[in-house]
Amino acid sequence: MKVGLIGLGIMGKPMGKNLVKKGYDLMVFDLNKAAVAELVECGAKAAENTRELAENCDVILTMLPNSPHVKSVMLEGENAVANYVKEGTVFIDMSSINPVASREISDALAKKGVVMLDAPVSGGEPKAVDGTLAFMVGGPEDVFEAHKELLGAMGSSVVRCGEIGAGNVTKLCNQVVVAINIAAVSEAMMLGQLSGVEPEKIFEAIKGGLAGSTVMNAKAPMMMDQNFKPGFRIDLHIKDLTNVVDAAKVVDAPLPLTSQVMEMMKILHRDGDGACDHSALMKYYQKLTGEELHH
Ligand code: NAD
Repeated sequence: MKVGLIGLGIMGKPMGKNLVKKGYDLMVFDLNKAAVAELVECGAKAAENTRELAENCDVILTMLPNSPHVKSVMLEGENAVANYVKEGTVFIDMSSINPVASREISDALAKKGVVMLDAPVSGGEPKAVDGTLAFMVGGPEDVFEAHKELLGAMGSSVVRCGEIGAGNVTKLCNQVVVAINIAAVSEAMMLGQLSGVEPEKIFEAIKGGLAGSTVMNAKAPMMMDQNFKPGFRIDLHIKDLTNVVDAAKVVDAPLPLTSQVMEMMKILHRDGDGACDHSALMKYYQKLTGEELHH
């Protein structure tokens, strides 16, 4: 099986390296030539363009920023993958995009005899490096079963959530929980500090109880250290929450909490903090109070 991977950023690069390590015959493409060279160093082949990759691969993976990038690479322009794929090729989009776009891309590719899975991930760069990402997948069950092992080479959990688009719906649910949870941790820690209790003690005391969470364990220490190096950037989270709002409109789902947190993230973006980790939601509270969270 020849595998192609388009998109070698923070996530795609280590995911590609894990595929090579597990013995997959991998061809890669990215606009960033340095990222391509790094993968070639590890044993992957470089494609000149997306056309060459489409013509030579049986399974095509993408790890791109958002819906317009995936649409553009797959369907638009001179080198669009759809113009050159062999019938029977499987396309797996691992980017976090709008589920409505996943369904549109899948419909367009079906006309070329290509079947698609949407398979976004949770876990971030450390888990991409370790190969322990969590995949949430949408698409036909037989195609999912046939490619579970391939995704398993990059992740420790691979769950089919339903038909095409279900992977990205699940990812949006994940992003809602994470965003609101980070905001809640920020709000609570600032309340505690302003009330005279050390944030470190609050964290230590409540992390094992009902309020504890993976989000709290990962982000509270970053907030106390004032270490907002990404990780997962505020701007990417705004992108995901914008997709949440778009997807919610289609089904008339209420989003009172998500909307609030999205506004907080947009304010941080306007203040120049868009490239910070999403734990920088704490900065929103620091700006309001004029106090920095400490240990
Ligand atoms: P990134 O910006 O680091 O990487 C994107 C890559 O796509 C870049 O290398 C860029 O050059 C390439 N690219 C863009 N347009 C292209 C095109 N037309 N042709 C070829 N290459 C192109 O992004 P990332 O952090 O790796 O995230 C990728 C996806 O994974 C996003 O949807 C993101 O939301 C999701 N995600 C990211 C994280 C994280 O922690 N970074 C965690 C989970 C999911």
